[in-house]
Amino acid sequence: MSHNGVLFLDELPEFTLQVLDSLRQPLESGETSIVRANYRVTFPSRFQLIAAMNPCRCGMAGEPGHACKRGERCVTDYQGRLSGPFMDRIDMRIEVPAISAADMITVNHGEASEKIAQRVLRAREMQAARTKDAMADPDLAERLKSSSGFTNASASAALVEIIAAPDAGGEKLLRQAAETMKFSARAYHRILKVARTIADLDGAETVGRIHLGEAIAYRSVNSRLAIAA
Ligand SMILES: [Zn+2]
Repeated sequence: MSHNGVLFLDELPEFTLQVLDSLRQPLESGETSIVRANYRVTFPSRFQLIAAMNPCRCGMAGEPGHACKRGERCVTDYQGRLSGPFMDRIDMRIEVPAISAADMITVNHGEASEKIAQRVLRAREMQAARTKDAMADPDLAERLKSSSGFTNASASAALVEIIAAPDAGGEKLLRQAAETMKFSARAYHRILKVARTIADLDGAETVGRIHLGEAIAYRSVNSRLAIAA
């Protein structure tokens, strides 16, 4: 039902392991297959997963002056309910501090949604034009045939390597981070995609060190709120 839309899961670790594992296939392929004894049905299910969670069962870990009754285990047990392979598919993890009453009094309007929407639209147009160009190249046609759609998110690994190739500084940073953080091959392509999108929102032609740095930071935050691009 969330095909071409957003799937929002609140209190992510409260879902059973089975439910979370069943999301891995659609997150990877954009399809869900249901297999029964005599038949198999495949449904399209390309969605953006947005999930929210507390840092621990009691919800208070990390708050200044708070100590969980169950100590460290309150955090480790709760976050341990999300498997490594599942979390590997979450591209952006953002910690959101609690809002105090004092924060509510301070008026901070920030950037208007209309302005942000224009920037997003421009980035999507850039992505579509770039992807169409790459796919029109007869030399690349064979390598790119598995890519679907025109956004960075829908690009295949082969296409990502072409459209998100970083400059020398970016490549160096990526190499260092891959060694220290031990990325999977999947994470590597996903970081490139996010960095490409950050560069697009910046209006930048090439993926640079600053864009990759931001994309890597989103993956390394241990989070309360997780977003899969
Ligand atoms: Zn706790």
